[in-house]
Amino acid sequence: MTHLETQFIHAAGVDKETGAVNVPIHLSSTYHQPSFDEFGPFDYSRSGNPTRLKLEETIAKLEGGTRGFAFASGMAAISSAFMLLSAGDHVLVSEDVYGGTYRFVTEVLTKFGISYSFVDMTDLSEMAAAIKPNTKVVYIETPSNPVMNITDIEIAAKLAKANGCLTFVDNTFMTPMYQNPLALGADVVLHSATKFLSGHSDIIAGLAVVKDPELADSLGFIQNTFGSVLGAHDSYTLIQGIKTLGARLKQSSASARVIAEYLHSHPAVEEVYYPGFTFHPGNPIHERQARDAGAVVSLRLKDKDAARIFVESLEIPVFAVSLGAVETILSYPATMSHASMPKEYREKRGITDGVLRLSVGLENRDDLLEDLEQALQKVRRATKTPELVK
Ligand SMILES: *Cc1c(COP(=O)(O)O)cnc(C)c1O
Repeated sequence: MTHLETQFIHAAGVDKETGAVNVPIHLSSTYHQPSFDEFGPFDYSRSGNPTRLKLEETIAKLEGGTRGFAFASGMAAISSAFMLLSAGDHVLVSEDVYGGTYRFVTEVLTKFGISYSFVDMTDLSEMAAAIKPNTKVVYIETPSNPVMNITDIEIAAKLAKANGCLTFVDNTFMTPMYQNPLALGADVVLHSATKFLSGHSDIIAGLAVVKDPELADSLGFIQNTFGSVLGAHDSYTLIQGIKTLGARLKQSSASARVIAEYLHSHPAVEEVYYPGFTFHPGNPIHERQARDAGAVVSLRLKDKDAARIFVESLEIPVFAVSLGAVETILSYPATMSHASMPKEYREKRGITDGVLRLSVGLENRDDLLEDLEQALQKVRRATKTPELVK
């Protein structure tokens, strides 16, 4: 089982009791104990559920950690990880972090006396300069959402460690298929499993994986105490989703590469954000720490009107928040994923009103290209972009 695709399918294993090839869904909130002074492995499903445990063991294996934790959403996983902190601590966060993480850090953590700084983590000297004596966590998202900035996980984690800080990495975009932050020195890996890991736009789920056993105990304590755990049904659905991750992500990523190149060559597209381009500033770092550029491509059109025409002309992609599914998903970060960021802050980070994010699904690639072409022709005509000059 040296290849990840094989592990995705077999990591959860067959059911020892029955031989069932799928993990049983254990619908029980509580567990009968063998005797007055003898307790079984499970007592109450907030603390532990056999179906959830299979999922947690699976993600721990895939990320190369000691323990995994399943939460009710990606935000529940991220928020729970931040609860490892105490009042008076400071966190350093990637400036173009997911909108919900931005909101949690700025509006919830501050209420508990935890301060923050947002820094451009593509610039490690800026990051080093922002570390304070009370900084406890360096929080990274790479590639970042939606403009695909790349942070060097290994160097950032070294810098964090040298200053007594933990490194958290949101690995939602790459998944364990393409990037393994724990092997690069990170302490906690976080996922919105709502996206590629489950892959079918059917559940909301989050995962965390920890390497250090003591830190794992601390996060386990928070998971049980805060209680935002993933239910048994959704744990099962997520295990099934992970089984096909290899095939899905490979096809989507291959299509994304072709689409990124096509968009780059189109006169109506002002910029394409894709870490697989050799001219992307983060490309050498990304190539070193990840195995593919993934299935998400962002593009910038002239302005909001051009974005509107593009969205209204496309027939195949669903126009929606979220990403990482079998269907191609087009979203408009300014009013969707990054709506909770003030406009000025958002634009400073390159998320202007012309930026759109495309999460490439499993449709036939030629159908997608044809659809993009007819929509961009309409954009070109409306914005009077000359046909051939870029
Ligand atoms: C969606 C997303 C989240 C939040 O996850 P939910 O499952 O929606 O709570 C966090 N980080 C990234 C990068 C995401 O795309």
